[in-house]
Amino acid sequence: MNKIKYFRLICGLILAVLTVFFTSCYAADNEKKVIALTFDDGPHLKYTEEVLNILKKNNIHATFFVMGGSVRNHPELLKEEFAAGNVIGNHTYSHPNLSKLTSSAIGQELNKNDAMIYKTIHVHPILFRPPYGACSELCTATITKLGYKKVTWHFLVNDWDVNKTSSEKIADQIIKNAKPGAIMAMHDGGGNREKTVQALPVIIDTLKKNGYQFVTVSELLKVSPYRAP
Ligand SMILES: [Zn+2]
Repeated sequence: MNKIKYFRLICGLILAVLTVFFTSCYAADNEKKVIALTFDDGPHLKYTEEVLNILKKNNIHATFFVMGGSVRNHPELLKEEFAAGNVIGNHTYSHPNLSKLTSSAIGQELNKNDAMIYKTIHVHPILFRPPYGACSELCTATITKLGYKKVTWHFLVNDWDVNKTSSEKIADQIIKNAKPGAIMAMHDGGGNREKTVQALPVIIDTLKKNGYQFVTVSELLKVSPYRAP
């Protein structure tokens, strides 16, 4: 074999090794077992406190999409959520179906909630979850113009339908639908959330055993959670 052929062979081998190495790194990153737990419609005096205690006990963080009307009633709980390192997102002031509102009414719902959040914890959230996941083209254009990032979910558990579910079902459904990089939606406010609270330790324990790490939505999407002041 002459020198040039030998050189080409070595270069080819190095290239092949590097390709395999970088492909496997990329795949590993894509399949990283991270998951984001999210809670809507709070804060609620009883259930939010219970959810926070479970998160703290497990040393993990979640994302809370709060409603201005609930924040007004329980500002101390929003402060507690934020101080514990959880991420806060905007979920409107009064939970309307935004697909039925004008652009100016949508803006009012978001701004009113933002003002309530800012008054309480002095940040302006960027993450926004539309009530019922409903956001028309007009709604999407409006929230984008206002600087929000729309976040829905990969899986929404029907914990809001308390009469048709159980804590076992809630845990089972979340665990079955978990996948790397998923956003899981639950509720800590807006009704009786006892079953969600009961399911939470099972969900966290099982997902941990299955190799998952818990991240906030902003960590997952690699976006800043709050607007610069
Ligand atoms: Zn909601």
